Amino acid sequence: MSGSYDVVVVGSGPVGTAVARELADTAPALRVLVLEAGRALGDPAGGHVKNIADVQERDRLLAALATGPGPLPGGTPARPGTVLVGAEAMPNAAMSTNVGGMGAHWTAACPRPVDDEVPGCIDPTVLGEALTRAEELLAVTTHAFDRAPLTGAVQRVLGELFDRPHRRPVGAMPVAVTVGEDGALHWTGPATIAGDLWQRPEVELRTGTLARRILLDGGRATGVEVVDLATGERSSIEARAVVVAADAFRTPQLLHASGVRPQALGRYLTEHPQIMAASLLDEQHVPDGVLVDVDLPRSSATAPGGGAIVPVSGVSWVPYAADRPFHGQVMQMDASPVPLDPGTTVRPGQVVGLGWFCKKELSPDNRVWFDDDETDGHGLPAIRIDYALSDADRSAIEAAKAEVAHAARALGRPLGDPFVMPSGSSLHYLGTTRMGATDDGTSVCDPTGRVWATENLYVGGNNVIPTATACNPTLTAVALGVLTARTVAASLAAATTREGVHA
Ligand SMILES: Cc1cc2nc3c(=O)[nH]c(=O)nc-3n(C[C@H](O)[C@H](O)[C@H](O)COP(=O)(O)OP(=O)(O)OC[C@H]3O[C@@H](n4cnc5c(N)ncnc54)[C@H](O)[C@@H]3O)c2cc1C
Repeated sequence: MSGSYDVVVVGSGPVGTAVARELADTAPALRVLVLEAGRALGDPAGGHVKNIADVQERDRLLAALATGPGPLPGGTPARPGTVLVGAEAMPNAAMSTNVGGMGAHWTAACPRPVDDEVPGCIDPTVLGEALTRAEELLAVTTHAFDRAPLTGAVQRVLGELFDRPHRRPVGAMPVAVTVGEDGALHWTGPATIAGDLWQRPEVELRTGTLARRILLDGGRATGVEVVDLATGERSSIEARAVVVAADAFRTPQLLHASGVRPQALGRYLTEHPQIMAASLLDEQHVPDGVLVDVDLPRSSATAPGGGAIVPVSGVSWVPYAADRPFHGQVMQMDASPVPLDPGTTVRPGQVVGLGWFCKKELSPDNRVWFDDDETDGHGLPAIRIDYALSDADRSAIEAAKAEVAHAARALGRPLGDPFVMPSGSSLHYLGTTRMGATDDGTSVCDPTGRVWATENLYVGGNNVIPTATACNPTLTAVALGVLTARTVAASLAAATTREGVHA
């Protein structure tokens, strides 16, 4: 055994980092080790790459990550910071391997779940408090884009279309972004969640280290077998509890590789079918004087990659409601994602990108599974995906397309027709180690994240969310991770007391 800890956490994304942070805050004496297969992208470890001011350095770091199977026929290339899983059934399924996981690259939209999105197996008051803690850890605000021009006009148009008495109103999207005194935006990555965590004496982040197997003695996790990816050296680490937060594909992969194979493992895989459109905000919605304090020129440039999000970009939200199986994320861009007619110039914020995320029907047949006859680059069983849309999904997608087209027309001049992104594009993968109230074969863990039939093996991430949702999942997953951390801390404290009594 190379080292002994109270808790080993696998994965340093937003959820693994939040679990470690909450453990350390709740029970500072616990020795906590976070294992991360990837390396840090700059300083601080786990910071969001958009905060790296030197663009060339940022591009160099991102380029170094871009090794993977490459786009499948008809697929789009992986988003920067991610590599594709390489599955035909979900061509844009992707993952990130670096300190901070996908949380070093995300767009940071953090809406709360509502209505039937909320996991019914957790007390609503407990979940509400955990969501508040998650918002604090992620530094969520609705004021990051208060200076953005024309956002009021966009929200007015969308509000007239979609606001109903029983729905949450159209407004600013809650985002995990902090505004500095100089007005610069600082994007929350797991480094923000960590704070001074990695400097605390009882906490260690070990990078470049892959968890290959969870060591078990019957239903009790005793540690983790790891490999140092630089040297290839294997060793075992002892632990009193293990939390796996290694994303929705690699968390069930590690459980499978360790012989932990509940019936629902990998099943109920879901994501958010995504519909995109763009519109040029009509001059009639642009009141005179709205740009008085914004010193930016009009532009006719086409933005690479569809327009960057900058302090002048508003990020608006058309919230999910049970009578509308999607939610809308509306971003104003600094330039058009498509070429405009010669001579057309746009004001900052006048190009509006619309992204609708659909709720998808859950099915046990949609799944990630693991091929024992083939291994991945690390000797773990290869990842395979079965995934298909149902008739209900196709109806929801058509309804979303119609709604987006309607919104694009109401805003001004649509820049092309709405289009559906290939499966996996949302980067929100859920359900593969889902939680449930009872061990009835449809869930992998209980509402605290403890894997059924184990004493001290826990899972975290979007993969534990059991419901069909439309909202971006990270806030919810971090909240559930907070609850897992508190449970682990309490059960280790109880075990220590028992051991003391029996000594
Ligand atoms: C471009 C982009 C935009 C996004 N926008 C949003 C958004 O606006 N809102 C939102 O809610 N979500 C968004 N997401 C998704 C969001 O980033 C994820 O939901 C979130 O990062 C999940 O956190 P996690 O900690 O569960 O997993 P991850 O962030 O995926 O982290 C998992 C970590 O585990 C490590 N790991 C895996 N296997 C092992 C192993 N065997 N041993 C050691 N380490 C291992 C990986 O290297 C990785 O670092 C976006 C993602 C991307 C890429």
